[in-house]
Amino acid sequence: MNDKCLSFNLDNNAFRGRILRLDNVVTEIFSHRHYPDNVAAALSETTALGIILASLMKFDGIFTLQMQGDGPISVLVADVTSDGKVRAAVKYDEQRLNAAQQLRKTEGEIESTPHWLGKGTLVFTIDQGRQTDLYQGIVDLHGKNLEECALRYFKNSEQIDTHLRLYLQKVGDVWKSAGILIQKMPTAGHIDDEQQQQLQQNWEEDKILLDSLRQEEIFDAKLSMEDILFRLFHEHQVRVVKENEYHFACRCSREKIQNTLSSMAEKDIDNMIEDGKITATCNFCGQSYSFSKSELIKH
Ligand SMILES: [Zn+2]
Repeated sequence: MNDKCLSFNLDNNAFRGRILRLDNVVTEIFSHRHYPDNVAAALSETTALGIILASLMKFDGIFTLQMQGDGPISVLVADVTSDGKVRAAVKYDEQRLNAAQQLRKTEGEIESTPHWLGKGTLVFTIDQGRQTDLYQGIVDLHGKNLEECALRYFKNSEQIDTHLRLYLQKVGDVWKSAGILIQKMPTAGHIDDEQQQQLQQNWEEDKILLDSLRQEEIFDAKLSMEDILFRLFHEHQVRVVKENEYHFACRCSREKIQNTLSSMAEKDIDNMIEDGKITATCNFCGQSYSFSKSELIKH
């Protein structure tokens, strides 16, 4: 089991961090469908970012990261519950994707997630049930990679200094993703200029150390995530404070799909009838549900 996120502190709690490595979660997301490499990469990366963002928020319910754009990949979504259930889905246009890959001669090469999404937005929501409001964050998709898009949110909306790297690995047909983030916490109480300078110096050093983490290191099965953190930050009082585990689980049900289909116009339902029944497949887990027309038409 290798789907864990560690929460850690640096420099006597001046900064907080997260390190995440995903294994089974990504494998299960892909188990019901085969995706082209660029789509698989984008979906793996989105899942890692979704979990890291969720782990920074205090909530009891469902955190959703959703990106929408006008490119060949039109939607990427990952949702994470407060008890560690993860699922993710993607919508893309295969023809446009192939055409774009040929045009840019990028076949066999992985382009960044925002490149395939095009112009659009990154949105996240926290749903804590009917009694509470939906908390929402939104930022335009600007940046040469997904990290830059996410960092824009922290800079513009939260004004929190944040540093983030995401990692991908493909071995055979198996994808893995990972990520590491550090964040400057608001300073408690008054600090003098000298302390301020020291804080800034530590922050700059920690950012450089974070950037030194290589892809082959974070996916090295012989290294625990504690080992990785110690290697990087042993001179910065690294301290692990929490460990969260994640697993793939879908929240779809026959009833939910039935409700969605029932809200459609009768003629649209008629168009979906095949062999006397209407079948819908969940985008997250691939589960198919079949209904007779009479189950979907409200009387
Ligand atoms: Zn499902």
